[in-house]
Amino acid sequence: MRWSTLFTPTLRDAPGDAEAASHKLLVRGGFIRQLHAGHYTLLPLGFRVRQKIVSIVAEEQDRIDGQQVQMPTLQPSGPWRQSGRWDSMGEIMFTLEDRHGTEAALGVTAEEIFATVATELTSYRQLPQMWYQIHTKFRDEARPKSGLLRVREFTMKDAYSFDLDEAGLDVSFERQHQAYTNTFRRLDLDAIPVQASSGNMGGTDSIEFMVEAEAGEDDVVLCPSCAYAANIEKANSALASVDDGPGLDAPERFDTPGLRTIADLAAAGHRATNQIKTLVYIVDGQPTLFLLRGDHQLNEQKLADATGAIAFRPATPQETVQQLGANPGSLGAVGVDELRIIADPALRGRRAMTTGANIDDVHLRGVDVDRDLVVDRWADLREVQAGEPCPTCGTPLDIVATIESGHIFKLGRKYAETFGINVLDENGKAQTVIMGSYGIGIERAMATIVETHHDDNGIIWPVSVAPFEVVVTVVQAKDDASAAAAEAIYDELKAAGIDVLIDDRPARPGVKFADAELIGIPYRVAVGPKALAEGMVELTPRATGITELVPVAEAVDEVVALVVAARR
Ligand SMILES: [Zn+2]
Repeated sequence: MRWSTLFTPTLRDAPGDAEAASHKLLVRGGFIRQLHAGHYTLLPLGFRVRQKIVSIVAEEQDRIDGQQVQMPTLQPSGPWRQSGRWDSMGEIMFTLEDRHGTEAALGVTAEEIFATVATELTSYRQLPQMWYQIHTKFRDEARPKSGLLRVREFTMKDAYSFDLDEAGLDVSFERQHQAYTNTFRRLDLDAIPVQASSGNMGGTDSIEFMVEAEAGEDDVVLCPSCAYAANIEKANSALASVDDGPGLDAPERFDTPGLRTIADLAAAGHRATNQIKTLVYIVDGQPTLFLLRGDHQLNEQKLADATGAIAFRPATPQETVQQLGANPGSLGAVGVDELRIIADPALRGRRAMTTGANIDDVHLRGVDVDRDLVVDRWADLREVQAGEPCPTCGTPLDIVATIESGHIFKLGRKYAETFGINVLDENGKAQTVIMGSYGIGIERAMATIVETHHDDNGIIWPVSVAPFEVVVTVVQAKDDASAAAAEAIYDELKAAGIDVLIDDRPARPGVKFADAELIGIPYRVAVGPKALAEGMVELTPRATGITELVPVAEAVDEVVALVVAARR
């Protein structure tokens, strides 16, 4: 490819609203352009990178016997209604009607659609099956941002496995785990596998692959000593036990004028660890009390997982007055028996606790959780804080910002039952198959690579996904001898199977070098009259920026060796 004909409009300045490094650099380097919020055009360089990522992802899926298919992106509402997700997906799903008034959706994921196809499976002899597609998905994000990191239209590799039983699913899941490990190694992404919430997908085992990055929006809890790693939506920590002393025979009321927060009460001598925090949420229309230890924070994804809620929000003060007779700040669960009460296990067995009395400016002390509260369910609700002890080894935990780069999980039989995916087993008995679901966002991977591979001058692509592996820079386009030498090196590299670009533009050397650094080509061979007079060319790896003089005759072999070694 010749730079003089390549369409890569580089920019000196990033868009004003760009904060993430990948957003700035992909726009400045002429890889992408925003059409409208959350929808990006991939220009030639962006498309080349995307294709290389797609190839790696597909190769690793093929290696585990994945079979590539393609489902329509415009999908009928029927299967989505059948699974219940037409409603539970909420506003994230783009929905529309055709000219006949028939409802449809733009694919947000595809469990339902793959399940409808899988109903053609009839025998255990056909299992296992692993199907995947690399195709467009749509998500109506409320706030698309950060360039390709949070968009409304993107390419996703989604795979689905079908097995006869749990043992088969374990094997399929493990094979995908390995495929993901290989894929991220080849993309040069240091992806940490972490325990994750399954969200509204149902299912049990759920592992996300998270890449540590400043622009990341997902917090992951990591143990610096052992292998413990979990999404904060799922993470746990070991808690020191609290000595409550003997407690009281019954709760006692006491006045707390103006004391409305945990901190207010703590300042008045009631330790936060000995308070019960009472939060009221409207969960699928039903007022529900969530109880935590005073110094603990609620994680809303844990609330969603504990209740299976489709929609939830904190109750308004008017609603708490209506339901409990008091405003937030004086709420409690003692004596409440008409509302659902879900409590965090850190409260189990606690005595001598302080909580609101459901009268404004009045609290209760001496509350014995087991004696005085009617807890409907115990469920993990608490968000882990940095420095709390690791649940496995006790070392203080770290919390780091990450980008979710992949997600694999065991779906179980929910979809297979809903859609009737049954096969005959070896005894001729009908069995419902068991499914797994496995996703990677392609453009997000592109952006994540940039987040983790750049410097002040631009992107530093790994060879595996670089838009070009090598750029041959003609330093002085008007100098015939060095231009001819550059053309010869370009032709030889091309013949050797190297993905090479020649910068033959009539521009100043400084502009050419800056552009090559901005777009991040891993190796640069600069051919100019000065070095050439001594039979040399300049070889500069983008990652080190250190230029080495190489004899013209050896340049091609040396570059080919470097590139081939760096391919994954
Ligand atoms: Zn640990």
